[in-house]
Amino acid sequence: MATVTLENLKKSFGKTEVIQGIDIDIADGEFVVIVGPSGCGKSTLLRMVAGLETATSGEVRIDGKRVNDVEPMDRDIAMVFQNYALYPHMSVFDNMAYGLKIQKVAKPEIAERVQTAAKLLQLEPYLQRKPRELSGGQRQRVAMGRAIVRKPAVFLFDEPLSNLDAKLRVQMRLEIKALQRELGVTSLYVTHDQVEAMTLADRMIVMNAGVADQIGAPLDVYADPATEFVAGFIGSPP
Ligand code: ADP
Ligand code: MG
Repeated sequence: MATVTLENLKKSFGKTEVIQGIDIDIADGEFVVIVGPSGCGKSTLLRMVAGLETATSGEVRIDGKRVNDVEPMDRDIAMVFQNYALYPHMSVFDNMAYGLKIQKVAKPEIAERVQTAAKLLQLEPYLQRKPRELSGGQRQRVAMGRAIVRKPAVFLFDEPLSNLDAKLRVQMRLEIKALQRELGVTSLYVTHDQVEAMTLADRMIVMNAGVADQIGAPLDVYADPATEFVAGFIGSPP
């Protein structure tokens, strides 16, 4: 469990400032969605939280500690991407266990954690299958499972559902929400989909070209948009 704090966070690539000063205090167990159109800086922001991208200025703190002061292996973060590349030659079990083996977690503990995650994700019948023998939704669940077994303090999601068809996307969205409630893990979730943001978020950060135009609970943002951009973006159909 962890708090996440962004302090006047900025990032430039060359002369272009793609993140122009973002501040937010994320509470322990909170689900925050970063929403905005393609190219507005969502992935860059998330990568800075993960410590994969260095801020030009400002800070990211997890439980008060600067993320860049913590060794990558010791960062208590798990990330789920859009292209959740699974190892094709490994079983579902081994895909989920892989990160724990690297961390030298004891075998019985690995088996227990994978079983628990598989149960949560309804993957128990598929543990010995290879990724190619699974549906898109099941593969997505394996990617989630890989994150869950690590018992991270923070989940970071970057458009994890955008490769799925519309129906599955809605179903997985509900599953992610239920899972996050159950696990209570502080989460930052990136999407360009307004409906997904409205459904998932405790609070949302509406991004407009590197600026957080508004940060608030979905219904407050919807009822009282801070800018023309927010009004247009949140009001328009997905
Ligand atoms: P989003 O995830 O919202 O689509 P990104 O964070 O990927 O947006 O990108 C924000 C802006 O930063 C875009 O204009 C993109 O072209 C630029 N950008 C992202 N990564 C790099 C990079 N490594 N080098 C230069 N420009 C980048
Ligand atoms: Mg992106």
